[in-house]
Amino acid sequence: MSLPFPSPCMNYIAGAWSPATSGATFDKLAPADGSVLSAVANSSASDVDAAVAAARAQFDGGPWSRLPGSARGQLLHALANLLERDSERFATILAMEQARPLMEMRMLDLPMSIDTLRYFAGWADKLEGRQIPTAGFMGRPTLNYTVREALGVAALIVPWNAPLMIGIWKIAPALAAGCTVVLKPSEDAPLALTALAELAAEAGFPAGVLNIVNGMGPEAGGALTRHPGVDKISFTGSTAVGRIIAADAAPLFKRLTLELGGKAPQIVCADADLTQAIQGVAMGLFVNQGQTCAAGTRILVHRSRYDDVVNALADAAKSVSVGNPLSEGTTMGAMINARHRDRVAELIASGVAEGATMVAGAEAIPDTGFFIRPTVFADGQAHMRIVREEIFGPVGVVTPFDSDEEAIRLANDTPFGLSASVWTNDVARAHRMAGALRVGAVAVNGWSPLDARLPWGGYKDSGIGRDLSRTALEAYTEEKVVSLVM
Ligand code: NAD
Repeated sequence: MSLPFPSPCMNYIAGAWSPATSGATFDKLAPADGSVLSAVANSSASDVDAAVAAARAQFDGGPWSRLPGSARGQLLHALANLLERDSERFATILAMEQARPLMEMRMLDLPMSIDTLRYFAGWADKLEGRQIPTAGFMGRPTLNYTVREALGVAALIVPWNAPLMIGIWKIAPALAAGCTVVLKPSEDAPLALTALAELAAEAGFPAGVLNIVNGMGPEAGGALTRHPGVDKISFTGSTAVGRIIAADAAPLFKRLTLELGGKAPQIVCADADLTQAIQGVAMGLFVNQGQTCAAGTRILVHRSRYDDVVNALADAAKSVSVGNPLSEGTTMGAMINARHRDRVAELIASGVAEGATMVAGAEAIPDTGFFIRPTVFADGQAHMRIVREEIFGPVGVVTPFDSDEEAIRLANDTPFGLSASVWTNDVARAHRMAGALRVGAVAVNGWSPLDARLPWGGYKDSGIGRDLSRTALEAYTEEKVVSLVM
């Protein structure tokens, strides 16, 4: 059977496929059974140099720099159409490299990736400036206007938990704005994003506009973020690595977007529709094996509904079907690698040791691969590690509250500030709570409002700036003012 993904998985630099200059590779394993999926180029600084040079050449006077926005938009539309044509292939690659159920890829990642390409394709010829009236200059009238100019070469660094979708969240606005791109996929999920370069070539993007360099974070990623030829860094990943990258960006004042970790609260009020709330809370907890930045793992429930919610979430966890991501009927796959599986298991053990009550998490799971049981704890308390730390696995903690004020205090008691859910039928309460939550996105009676048109990003330790929406597009531009004294 021919493999759906590139094997070996190489670099794509200046429109050509190449191994790492050193010839080094590493093995990408299938999380579902630990087998080797593909050898992957293990790049070093010289590969990054070549990719940045290719991107610079296109930006600093290459054909790309002269292309009008409408033509950039057509190329992005062509890429969207090719991805739609190859949806099933890409869903399969993602399911294999992430061990995520095929169904999730078909329903979430592929449609959103295609939609994001089309949304930003539409913006490519709409980067307009403003005409701004002033009192003039030394008694003479002026004509003042602004223009939005592409920032330059963008370094895009992507995590493993939704690699294609998050990669496209960055590629699409960067190219729409007229930047060129060097993207480093995660070493844990390089296959789908590298395959996307095949489609970019077929769509007709000039060589050097989109470059992919595979490799490890500190080596290939670090060489990229510190490279003097890079003007802008857009990073999605952990808060710890975000701090390193912010420091790497500082000496040259590289423009920076950081999408970092989360520890989202889901607040279930006394007046909530419980059937709807349980379904949504369970989705926010278990989708992508809980490996999402927006995972709603801190479930705060009004005491009057506490027992009902604990029991229903325990039932929801027990009904999850854990197994082979390619089998129909599987609703949860494996953790991305053995180290991450062990970390999640250690955090679950800490919950038991610190006195939380495990109400689901003892069910059988496959004995090969990096699986974790969907786990629900009751009696969560603010000091517990399972309440404080980002787990990035299918583990939720339920804590009771007695008043709206207490719910808000508990929800905001975290260094993170990415997203939150509020479940209520009281419109005024919904708006009051949304206003008081220190997060970048609030879903009322839903989970995680992800859409290409809506800004996505965090307060506090969850990052700087926004992906998606017009806000992300503008973050790949500088705003220049021209003032003509008449
Ligand atoms: P990670 O921080 O370990 O790695 C992310 C990327 O950074 C990878 O490509 C890695 O190779 C690279 N990297 C690592 N060290 C580097 C360095 N020193 N210099 C440059 N690059 C380096 O994160 P992960 O484990 O891949 O992903 C999980 C994390 O991502 C979680 O914390 C999650 O919350 C976060 N995340 C956030 C969002 C969001 O939108 N806010 C979305 C998805 C994931």
